[in-house]
Amino acid sequence: MYTNFREHLQAELAAIREAGLYKEERLIECPQKAAIQVAGKEVLNFCANNYLGLADDPRLVAAAKAMMDKRGYGMSSVRFICGTQDIHKQLEAAISDFFRTEDTILYAACFDANGGVFEPLLTEEDAIISDALNHASIIDGVRLSKAKRYRYANADMADLERQLQAAQAQRFRIVVTDGVFSMDGNVAPMDKICQLAEKYNALVMVDESHSAGVVGKTGHGVSEHFGTYGSVDIYTGTLGKAFGGAVGGFTTGRKEIIEMLRQRSRPYLFSNSIPPCVVGAALETFRILKESNALHDKLMENVEYFRNRMMAAGFDIKPTQSAICAVMLYDAPLSQKYASLLQDEGIYVTGFYYPVVPQGQARIRVQISAAHEREHLDRCITAFVKIGKQLGVLK
Ligand SMILES: *Cc1c(COP(=O)(O)O)cnc(C)c1O
Repeated sequence: MYTNFREHLQAELAAIREAGLYKEERLIECPQKAAIQVAGKEVLNFCANNYLGLADDPRLVAAAKAMMDKRGYGMSSVRFICGTQDIHKQLEAAISDFFRTEDTILYAACFDANGGVFEPLLTEEDAIISDALNHASIIDGVRLSKAKRYRYANADMADLERQLQAAQAQRFRIVVTDGVFSMDGNVAPMDKICQLAEKYNALVMVDESHSAGVVGKTGHGVSEHFGTYGSVDIYTGTLGKAFGGAVGGFTTGRKEIIEMLRQRSRPYLFSNSIPPCVVGAALETFRILKESNALHDKLMENVEYFRNRMMAAGFDIKPTQSAICAVMLYDAPLSQKYASLLQDEGIYVTGFYYPVVPQGQARIRVQISAAHEREHLDRCITAFVKIGKQLGVLK
């Protein structure tokens, strides 16, 4: 039996390679940080989601070790059987405090938070109205529910209004959006989304994976940025990006919603509890962020410095309010060549092209971190300019 299936897989894999879409893994030989070892060579990392530079923070490493000593390695249980320590509840409270919400439920990943949020809350009588560029995990979560689906063009409020009008026959409606969209770095217009949701009697959900720790005056996410506290019903997010970069996800928001998820959300009921060491480091993360805004301030300074220098050098950068800077090249082979030459210069970035971004919108995505020092940013900008001149992108 396997012979036929193997041939089928081999043909599919060959087609992926031929289309230039085959994903390779580059092996990093050190902790995640600004300057990393790849194949024995030092490169500067500009493609991690390590926005606050916490992935290798000694305070988090120490907190993880200390909690492992105190509370052991694994839980060997889902939360509701015997997988909840007091520290899991403390972390849920710390997340509620950070987002100013009523309650929080932890998951193994934000992928699970999004996968488990719609199905328990909504039925075929209800409607989900989703941004066209929402993360794959939201798309999968929507598919798992029986609710009627509507889609609006990315951050397009006229289209959202049309979809809300079309969904008026349903019992309940929910608008769902990413907080920051990962390809352009644009922030969802939460103020307008909440106004439309109010007008058309809809709930609001935002996935803060790329926005929490980054967006807002002190990095507390989209509601801090837009003043939408009290208007957003559900936030989902990850501990795998700005908040230390290990694993873990959460849903936070109105208390009855969280209570229902604890009763019915399948990735919560049927998947293991997150380990004490991760909880310990995450608690330390939220302590650090409460004590001082230094990391977020540094991130914002870095973003502004990088963006200003790159624009002054003549690059076309998508407008961004996040730590994602899309350097537009518009040509797929050029984006790959450019990224590869940058790697030769010791700058690790990724070029994206269709179908990951729209046709003719090829770019290099640069992700800025509080882990970057001015010298790292300067080396990146210098390399961009050098290769830009070499490839005729800059005059
Ligand atoms: C990264 C990301 C996720 C997945 O988070 P994990 O915790 O790694 O599963 C979900 N949603 C969005 C918008 C993301 O960017």
